[in-house]
Amino acid sequence: MTTNDTLAKARIAVLGYGSQGRAHALNLRDSGLDVVVGLRKGGPSWERAHAEGFRVAEPAEAVRDADLIAVLTPDMVQPSLYRDAIEPNIKAGAALLFAHGFNVHFKQIQPRNDIDVVLVAPKGPGALVRREYEIGRGVPCLFAVYQDTSGHAEAKAKAYADGIGGGRAMLIETDFKEETETDLFGEQAVLCGGASELVIKGFETLVEAGYKPEIAYYEVMHELKLIVDLFYEGGLKRMLEFVSETAQYGDYVSGPRVVDESTKQRMKAVLTDIQDGTFARNWIAEYQAGLPNYKRLKQADLDHPIEQVGAKLRARMPWLNAGQAAPAAAPLK
Ligand code: NDP
Ligand code: MG
Ligand code: MG
Repeated sequence: MTTNDTLAKARIAVLGYGSQGRAHALNLRDSGLDVVVGLRKGGPSWERAHAEGFRVAEPAEAVRDADLIAVLTPDMVQPSLYRDAIEPNIKAGAALLFAHGFNVHFKQIQPRNDIDVVLVAPKGPGALVRREYEIGRGVPCLFAVYQDTSGHAEAKAKAYADGIGGGRAMLIETDFKEETETDLFGEQAVLCGGASELVIKGFETLVEAGYKPEIAYYEVMHELKLIVDLFYEGGLKRMLEFVSETAQYGDYVSGPRVVDESTKQRMKAVLTDIQDGTFARNWIAEYQAGLPNYKRLKQADLDHPIEQVGAKLRARMPWLNAGQAAPAAAPLK
């Protein structure tokens, strides 16, 4: 059972059964809560949710008798889903829950004023949210209240976070603006955008200087995992404890030559585009135009030489099959 019985008698509709949707639905059910999964009939997820024992319904039907609706489809499909399936069917006093504040913060969804609107955002991918729950732990979650009409919006958000296991770890209060802007900044400047460009530029530098692509791959992509695992376990201190003195000295003198104050100025420009809505406007226009640039840029990443050599090398490392990478073994020396 959850530590909070606010949702004990509630029906929860989880819309979407992808990364977050599947993990939330399974965890909520294992916490003893009543879950229905809302999906398009005939879509790839329908059979899976059904096979995993859920009652599955079209989104409009799932919303109709639900007390809490978790919107866990891709962000760009949420506005039409809200307009077509949620707004006409959600009960007055019910709660609408998001795992990312994008559509509410950037006003792509303007929720009816007779419902609660909350956010519960796990700080990890769905697979981790499920795996941690199964071993009796949880992934920390941000939570926020955007609109409270029932007087219980915060209690509902916390009960939901408990139900997916977040309460076992840590709940951090935020608001939709902070969650949306920091999430977008992190994935753009550091996690997805920043890290992948750092790797690609490092690979190109070595290969253009005549070094073997196989060796460049190991140096700048493969071994990054060892370093990231050390950050994850114990921050900069643990990383510095595990690498050689030579690696530490090189870190101190060369790191700031690569990522310097001018990089920080450009990070600030990225943040400004997020804060003033430029990024959101561009992304929505790109999506509505059928993703021409998104597809072209994605293909360029997939065609990069680091991908050719990487595929060949990973095929020789059988322990790397999807999501089952071996724990960081001997740290870099
Ligand atoms: P996914 O891309 O994994 O969602 C795919 C699911 O949505 C599938 O089950 C798909 O069904 C369903 N779906 C797609 N279109 C529709 C539709 N029109 N009607 C009903 N169902 C539909 O999403 P994520 O889990 O990545 O993201 C969900 C939310 O969580 C987003 O707001 C995201 O920002 C947020 N989030 C995601 C994190 C992550 O790690 N991925 C981390 C934290 C927050 P079908 O198979 O039938 O197409
Ligand atoms: Mg995100
Ligand atoms: Mg990139």
